Amino acid sequence: MNLKKLQEIAEEKKLPQYRAKQIIRAVYHEGVGSFLEMTTLPKDLREALEKEVQIFSFAVEKIIAAKNRQTIKAILKLSTGEISETVFIQTKPGMWSACISSQAGCAMNCAFCATGQNGFKRNLTAEEISDQVLFWKRYKTQQNITGTFSNVVYMGMGEPFANWKNVKESLRILLDPALLAFGARGISISTSGMPEGIVNLAKEFPQINLALSLHFATDEKRTKYMPVNKYANLAALRGALKTYFSLIKRKVFIEYLMLDGVNDTKEDAQDLAEYITSVGNAYLLYVNLIPYNTTASSFTASFTDTMRAFRNSLFRRGISVTVRKSMGADIDGACGQLAGSSV
Ligand code: SF4
Repeated sequence: MNLKKLQEIAEEKKLPQYRAKQIIRAVYHEGVGSFLEMTTLPKDLREALEKEVQIFSFAVEKIIAAKNRQTIKAILKLSTGEISETVFIQTKPGMWSACISSQAGCAMNCAFCATGQNGFKRNLTAEEISDQVLFWKRYKTQQNITGTFSNVVYMGMGEPFANWKNVKESLRILLDPALLAFGARGISISTSGMPEGIVNLAKEFPQINLALSLHFATDEKRTKYMPVNKYANLAALRGALKTYFSLIKRKVFIEYLMLDGVNDTKEDAQDLAEYITSVGNAYLLYVNLIPYNTTASSFTASFTDTMRAFRNSLFRRGISVTVRKSMGADIDGACGQLAGSSV
């Protein structure tokens, strides 16, 4: 919701403080979708708010649910015309998580990612980012979806640390008990590898989880498939992780997309284990092996046996590792598939 506009109206109309609180509670906690529904407000105020304040900063173009209804994707049209996407995922029975975007498109151009292939459009505002969470909160209530919604991952379109100012502001809206009221430990930020962002997160939001999309453990391969590595290579990321652990002792997730014949060999597993060990505090680094979801790119997913062997190889070297379940591939709502083009 446009909180600045609400504040302006409150000042202009000299509303008592409790009125603004009442409006905020109705929108953020009671799932109200129109000011006209707020019958506890005077009629002229309801009408003025409806005319001047938008509850959502985007229009929802389409909602697509996976066959098992455990993954639901919303395609959003921003007020300036660009498309962004957000996904609601049942991660465990009764546990829901929102995967939200921080940009429309992405400039990082990772070779395996549908979003990156379509280029960068613009940064999302703090309101456009936090409204994705507000949207799912309201959707869950309206659709009578049971279970808890306490997790948010910044893992949709875009590189969150490339839009840090607005991401930071959106985090404040998520964490504010009067607004979205999420716990910091339920929120994760995923980066393709921006060292200063990693350090800033540890300094400014030490309770928020960090996920690093590493995907390749040699500079040669990483630079080939993830151009961000030219700007910050593996040594720079190691330095950022060391600083991170000097500031906080918090578990960091290392995301590793499994690509057939590209990064899934015995040597790749060895390179990854060596890299993780070289960071220090290896007990705080958790590797998630992610099955690749086919996009328009030429990559294919690693075979199940290959993934198992890769996992076992890391495990034998003392690395914490799990194979993650892929969700929502049938609606292009899985990792690396948010291309803004499914309308
Ligand atoms: S994987 Fe992430 S950082 Fe890379 S292009 Fe896709 S959205 Fe951007």
